[in-house]
Amino acid sequence: MEYGTLEGIDSVSVVHPPIDGPARLDGSRVAVILLGAPGCGKGTLAFALQRSYGFEPFSTGDALRAEISKGSQLGVQIKALYDNGRLVSDEVVVAMVGEFLQNTDSGRVIFDGFPRTLSQAEKLSGLLADWCARVVCMDVDDDVVASRLLTRYSCKTCSKVYNEKTALPENGGVCDVCGGVDFVRRVDDTDAAILTRLQVYHEKIAPVVDYYSTKGEIYHVDASQSTENVFAVVSDVVFK
Ligand code: AMP
Repeated sequence: MEYGTLEGIDSVSVVHPPIDGPARLDGSRVAVILLGAPGCGKGTLAFALQRSYGFEPFSTGDALRAEISKGSQLGVQIKALYDNGRLVSDEVVVAMVGEFLQNTDSGRVIFDGFPRTLSQAEKLSGLLADWCARVVCMDVDDDVVASRLLTRYSCKTCSKVYNEKTALPENGGVCDVCGGVDFVRRVDDTDAAILTRLQVYHEKIAPVVDYYSTKGEIYHVDASQSTENVFAVVSDVVFK
């Protein structure tokens, strides 16, 4: 799955050696698992980890959007859930993640938006039995993410993300990356869907956080900080 250039990330500098530099990971395969409310910056962070250390991101949201835009039978089935901010079934997303892991030969992966339920977390532990997992929970207030989601939009051509209040294109209505002039908003970035997504997130993520806390595997990061700070903190977690 290709990630486009994401909001704020151009200013991130590499503060750590590349992953195959001084190794603190003993050659293990490493999976970074990003938990956090919609709009907390998981995609931006995944992109930074990809660009700086060669991690391969997998976003279940992106994979589902691809199915919906293909108009596949699965895409048609999940569209209403997606549009209304409801979760797609565990079975569907676990199968997508299983397929991704089967097809990748990367030993460095990032999960963005997965797991979102306890059952998904348990299944992921099974899939990652031989991996070293780094679980990061990105904490941020609901009002902050809701306002970010309501004002975000992206280039229709290259998916570069902008924000009406905090990150406009440098050149008026022209995309900084590809020069495109058509922009889109996500269909689930509406007031009603955002409310549902945040409610669902809190309800379903609490047992996931407990699950990883009990295993002593979770790191909390204040995601209201700048992109650079979040990236630096998470880099320390990944390379600890
Ligand atoms: P995201 O792009 O991560 O904000 O996800 C957008 C939407 O895709 C969510 O509101 C859900 O409808 C669906 N989705 C993404 N990841 C999952 C998941 N792990 N489990 C169930 N549904 C998901």
